[in-house]
Amino acid sequence: MKTSQVVADRPSAVKEIHVVWMTTGLSCDGDSVSVTAAGLPSIEDVVMGAIPGLPKVHLHNPVLAYEVGDDFMKYWFAAAEGRLEPFVLVLEGSVPNEEIKAEGYWAAMGTDPNTGQPITTNEWIERLAPKATAVVCAGTCATYGGIHAMQGNPTGAMGLADYLGWNWRSKAGIPIVNVPGCPVQPDNMMETLLYLLYQVAGLSPMIPLDDQLRPTWLFGKTVHEGCDRGSYYEQGDFAHEYGSPKCLVKIGCWGPVVNCNVTKRGWMDGIGGCPNVGGICIGCTMPGFPDKFMPFMDEPPGATFSSMMIGSYGRLIRSLRGITNRIVNQEPKWRHSKPVLTTGYHPKYYGNGNGAHNYGAPRRFETKTR
Ligand code: SF4
Ligand code: SF4
Repeated sequence: MKTSQVVADRPSAVKEIHVVWMTTGLSCDGDSVSVTAAGLPSIEDVVMGAIPGLPKVHLHNPVLAYEVGDDFMKYWFAAAEGRLEPFVLVLEGSVPNEEIKAEGYWAAMGTDPNTGQPITTNEWIERLAPKATAVVCAGTCATYGGIHAMQGNPTGAMGLADYLGWNWRSKAGIPIVNVPGCPVQPDNMMETLLYLLYQVAGLSPMIPLDDQLRPTWLFGKTVHEGCDRGSYYEQGDFAHEYGSPKCLVKIGCWGPVVNCNVTKRGWMDGIGGCPNVGGICIGCTMPGFPDKFMPFMDEPPGATFSSMMIGSYGRLIRSLRGITNRIVNQEPKWRHSKPVLTTGYHPKYYGNGNGAHNYGAPRRFETKTR
């Protein structure tokens, strides 16, 4: 029996699930745009009921919603008051530090009907996170702070786990789930969201996460381990300019030490994946991004040593493989049209017709000339 059948045969613990997707962290809305390209599953499949066993899913995302104004905000207030049960909270964008500003606010959405004042992103997090059954961060800004959290920024931006605490748990005991990427790889995000929706429906076990709260099955390998250019690296054959098909480590690729699966999965629908198509990996999925990967386009410090080591081994291996390659590019010499068999065939296991074996000299065969 297929897994999908098993899931479909089990009843969901709930009839409906809401996804409350905040885009009012510090961000460019790029993760919401990115997930419109997902196919495994697509947003349409999730909200239109095409996924076996999944209860009805309602998505509330300001970038993708039809509703505007109060019609849209009513879901937020309902969620904050515990009237939108159950829901998965998605955060897109980093969390600013509202404690350090002199006046005004860094980010907000909607207004408080009691005060008429904007409701800050931080306040929404404090209202919604305790009510959510699961919380997931979409993209590097929400997970670890991203570009806005680099040294010298005035907002004190951070990832959600920095804000709520790395040991924070939802009311269902689920840790914050981080799906980094700049933007998030669409299928990585939708696959993780689908997992959590199944978990909220009581149809899947606890989501497996690593120390940085990333799904282990998505971020367990490095860019380098899936890269189309890995064989160039192994042979010490490095690009020194863009446009080359060779390994990009000398011109700034951090792939060997970065956890990301786009070299395997592509950017969308299997297409692309930074180094596969000529772009250096700048570590955009990593907690240390961007500061620890700058200046971009310089050779990573550790790569000088590793490429020197692999360079001498790789050059030797490459020249030996070149010799072997030339040999195996030649047909064996017995493939000819001369009237003699020169394959080395010895008919010692075949008799001469009377049961006796013939261990004598190779027989001559008549062959046709071409
Ligand atoms: S291009 Fe980057 S990821 Fe690919 S093999 Fe070279 S160092 Fe590794
Ligand atoms: S390969 Fe590197 S730069 Fe490209 S998406 Fe992955 S982590 Fe980001």
